[in-house]
Amino acid sequence: MKYVCVDCHAEYDWTDRRYRCRCGGLLSLRYDKKPIDFRALETHRDRSLWRYRGALPPFDPQVISAVTMGEGGTPLVGIGPKVWGKADYLMPTLSFKDRGAVMLVCAMLQQGVRSCVIDSSGNAATSVAAYCTRVGISCEVFVPSYTSAKKVEQIEAHQATVHRIEHTREDTARAAIEFVESTGAFYASHIFNPLFWEGTKTYVYELYEQFGGRLPEVLVLPVGNGTLLMGAILALDELMGWNAITHYPLIVAVQAANCAPLAATFASGSAGVLTVETKPTLAEGIASAAPARGNEIIAAMRRVGGRFVTVSEREILEARDTLARRGLYVELTSAANHAGYLAAFGSSSMEEAVIPLCGAGLKSAH
Ligand SMILES: [Zn+2]
Repeated sequence: MKYVCVDCHAEYDWTDRRYRCRCGGLLSLRYDKKPIDFRALETHRDRSLWRYRGALPPFDPQVISAVTMGEGGTPLVGIGPKVWGKADYLMPTLSFKDRGAVMLVCAMLQQGVRSCVIDSSGNAATSVAAYCTRVGISCEVFVPSYTSAKKVEQIEAHQATVHRIEHTREDTARAAIEFVESTGAFYASHIFNPLFWEGTKTYVYELYEQFGGRLPEVLVLPVGNGTLLMGAILALDELMGWNAITHYPLIVAVQAANCAPLAATFASGSAGVLTVETKPTLAEGIASAAPARGNEIIAAMRRVGGRFVTVSEREILEARDTLARRGLYVELTSAANHAGYLAAFGSSSMEEAVIPLCGAGLKSAH
């Protein structure tokens, strides 16, 4: 397994603990994976994402057993006539980030990493901290000071050291990177480390199985730093490569109107991410004013023919209430996804769509 620079194509063995290329470029990942035999999976007993093991990074089986908490295998829940929520809040740490965090922590355990650094708006750090504490890896967590108290409590319960950073999500990332560069600690970043997408891609594999060997017409996906979106596109590319699908579903990427640099860039036709004015948003999980992989996200969205929508704070709150009345109590960031679906298609739409319910409502501050 190798890391490959997206800019200069330099290669590094995956045991190299760098988080970006020496040219400054971001890293992608390359390894041999086997096409999934979805037929054979019908009788497979493991319901977790490890049922796709042949198409996942080749960690030692004993490493996987030590780290896994049974993540993946989440149900589809009906929201409308042809709209389903995928209940990723039913994960070990109550958010979809467990799909990616389990990959990062397997990699660290296999390499003998003893301590790591992560920054996040809350859920990714919670997830990495939880998996790390299972296997005795210590964790320095950087979160913006606005992160909900419940998330911080959960992170601290997993024995991580929490650094609360004033100002924005970007200031938090800068503080974490300074810490990484001054200490040489492993940067368990869900943004820089492409292993994370290898986990989040299983979201799409599961949908493919749940729809009986095809995908829904529309995938609504939240975008802040793009961890779920880019994992989903990776899976779609693999499914195309294996001839399991013949075309991409329509991807509707959702940003909060208060913080929508990618939506603005996409609309402008620019290749490089525009600097736009942003305001705080209730959807803290997608509040990224300057996403590190923004250029890659924009290029991938253009390539697959996707579209962006933005949602207002009021629409996010209304969507949370709508979902709660359907029995689903989700984080405001997840509610933004449903609001995005409504913004794209309207409430009487018959588009067949799946909306990720990324995190549990009990994690939200509001
Ligand atoms: Zn490079």
